[in-house]
Order: sequence, then C-alpha cells, then structure tokens
Amino acid sequence: MKRIVFKVGSSVLTDTNSIAKERMLNLVSLLAEARKKYEVILVSSGAVAAGYTALKLDRNQHISKKVLASAGQPILMSSYKSMFDIYDVNTSQILLTEDDFDSRTRTKIFQQIIDTTLENNILPIVNENDISTTPDQLFGDNDQLSAHVAQYTNSDMLIILSDIEGYYDSNPKDNPNATIRKIVNKIEDNELTQAHTPNSQFATGGIVTKLKAGEYIMNNNKEMFLCSGFDLTTAREFLMKGIHNKGTLFSKKDN
Ligand code: ADP
Repeated sequence: MKRIVFKVGSSVLTDTNSIAKERMLNLVSLLAEARKKYEVILVSSGAVAAGYTALKLDRNQHISKKVLASAGQPILMSSYKSMFDIYDVNTSQILLTEDDFDSRTRTKIFQQIIDTTLENNILPIVNENDISTTPDQLFGDNDQLSAHVAQYTNSDMLIILSDIEGYYDSNPKDNPNATIRKIVNKIEDNELTQAHTPNSQFATGGIVTKLKAGEYIMNNNKEMFLCSGFDLTTAREFLMKGIHNKGTLFSKKDN
C-alpha cells in the first residue's frame, strides 16, 4: 500500500475567529476515504489560530505565540477527534521539531513510531512542537516539516492542501490572469528566493516554503501535489481516480 502525507494549512482550517468546522469535516471525510487505498499521515497546522479562538494574545510576540499554540493544540485535536469518530478512525498526536530529523537514533525512533501507529490502523496527526523549543529547533512552517515527514517515513507522496488551486506562473492574488502550472519538474533558484507571501494572518509559509518542500521532495525522488484544501474535488479525483485536473504535480518522473 502506498503511503501518503497530507499537509493542511491554517488558511484551510480556520476562519477569522474560529475553526472552519465544515472544511475540517470535508478534510476528515477525504482522509477516511483515502485510508481505504493508502496509508495516511496528516500534518496539520492551525494550533496558534485555534488558540486564538480561546484567548486573544498577540501572536507576533514570542511567548504569547507559544501560549496560543499550547492552548490551541488540544482544541485542534479535540475537533479532529470528534470528526474522525464519525468514521471510526482513531488518531494519535505527534509533535516534532527539526531536531527530530538530525540524528539517526532520533529519526529511527520517529520512523518506528509512525510505522507502529500505521500498523495499528491509527492515523497519526503531526504538528511542529513550537511550545517548549527554541526558534532554531523549528522549521517554522509545516510545508518543510511535512516534506521531511514524507522523506523519513518512506512515503510515496506529499499532498499540500492550501488556499490556492496550485502553483501559478505568478501570484494569483495579484494577477487575475495567472495560470496554473500543471507539472513542475524543476524549480529555479529565483523562485526559491522570492519574497514570502503568506495569505492569512496565521499562515507562516506562502508559496516559497511550498516550493522548498517541492524541491526537497523531488531531490529525494518523491512526488508532491499542491491543490486546494477548500474544494477537495481535485485532491479526491487525483488520489482516488488518478485524474489530474487542477493542482500542480511536482515530479521528476516522466508523467
Ligand atoms: P497555507 O496556509 O495553505 O500554507 P499560504 O497563505 O502560506 O497558505 O500560501 C499560499 C499563498 O501563496 C497563496 O494564497 C498566494 O497568495 C501566495 N502565492 C504567491 N505566489 C504564488 C504563486 N505563484 N502561485 C500560487 N500561490 C502564490
């Protein structure tokens, strides 16, 4: 069975002051369906935004942001739990930092935890542990974290669910004539060094971190698919029917 990592961004999971329950439920329903065909790992953002639903601290302040994350992580997980319960899917919470990938011993432990979790039919939900860590222990965005998770769990593909339909030839929020690039097999240096453009106040990545994730994934001979997390039709068709309609596939393989 192929193994797939899904990464979902804050913009999909949260509205201004609350968890976007309908979108989360749609995601959970897709993951429950995907589990019939694939081993599924979820990397979920949204803890800081979920924390903000309970207390209004300034997320730009170092300590306040950690407090928001620590308050938000259980809110996020309990929302996931109640939705996955509908599909009888058990979940686990795995919080990681960059350090978890920098030593063979720690990385092996992480691999074994994921393998055993999946063998026991539990869906692991991974997030960055930005609560008790220093900034240099963190990736800072879940795009690159999820690419590392895909690599070290021997996954075949990373699916990034974002607030855009794919990777465009220019920022679609600025240029209404931008067109989606369907397949990308090489990312140029200037694309990786462009200004960061996160779309929502809780988003940390923007397109650049997704491109860095894509570069890492392709360098490791894996594939990444970037598509909408708002309308999951594209992801569902791609995964369940092998139809590539919208969305961008990052792949060095001949497609
Ligand atoms: P998420 O919360 O899903 O990680 P982000 O807001 O961090 O999403 O990143 C997606 C945003 O990147 C888009 O909303 C868009 O404004 C911006 N962006 C900039 N350039 C591009 C591009 N060439 N193609 C697609 N999106 C782009």
